[in-house]
Amino acid sequence: MIRLFVAGELHGDARIEIDRPQAHYLASVMRQGVGDGLLLFNGRDGEWRARIGEASKSACLLVVESQTRPPARGPDLDLIVALVKRPRLETIVEKAAELGARRVQTVITDRTNPATVNLARLSAIAIEAAEQTGRLDVPRVLAAARLDRILADWPDERKLMFCDEAGDAPGAMEALCAIGGVSWAILIGPEGGFSSAERARLLAHPATTAVSLGPRILRADTAAICAMSLWQSALGDWRDLRLGDGAPTSP
Ligand code: SAH
Repeated sequence: MIRLFVAGELHGDARIEIDRPQAHYLASVMRQGVGDGLLLFNGRDGEWRARIGEASKSACLLVVESQTRPPARGPDLDLIVALVKRPRLETIVEKAAELGARRVQTVITDRTNPATVNLARLSAIAIEAAEQTGRLDVPRVLAAARLDRILADWPDERKLMFCDEAGDAPGAMEALCAIGGVSWAILIGPEGGFSSAERARLLAHPATTAVSLGPRILRADTAAICAMSLWQSALGDWRDLRLGDGAPTSP
């Protein structure tokens, strides 16, 4: 079933007018027409079944029918990633959406070239990936900020998984399982790595847990995917939920 992210309110009998690119996708790419069904979500109201009420190449009217899933949010995981080259950054945003991150913060470090980030394009990539995954929210992509600013404004309750290729940090899985907690951010550096001053500042920060992703140096996109997978396995929604609190016990 086709799933689309829409901006408007979703409730029974709501009428949603979708824009040209989405109308083109529905009518021309997916060959859907009046009467065909699809699923809609907006990041707030859960997921709803809808039908195409009117369709042309440039616009489509969707008629919302009934809710298929109530609102739900994934785990409280942010990804903070240095500004790397555009194709890699786009991959990272797509994978962050697939792997369940709530927000993607781009960060300027000593070894990143200040580049302009096309936030609209990155957000569109996040939306498209979220549509495909079945998740009910879309990760927010935030404008680039300097690392020292981010560390200075760090919220007390959030822990920081600092992916540190330079040191003798413990393996990520062990470290995460030992520390636990629910609100985390993963930090991935630029292709040139963190400067020694940044590394010292990160290691001294009270939120930081430095982790290793193994003996090989990974590209930033690979490192981001591995770190999110390990976090989801250790503390997120990849854990065996049958073993979780309140879950039915097997006979
Ligand atoms: N400093 C390196 C490359 C950095 S790789 C060099 O120039 O040789 C980009 C980022 O990916 C790093 O800053 C780190 O956050 C993450 N990363 C890559 N490999 C890693 C590993 N084995 N363990 C932990 N983090 C890693």
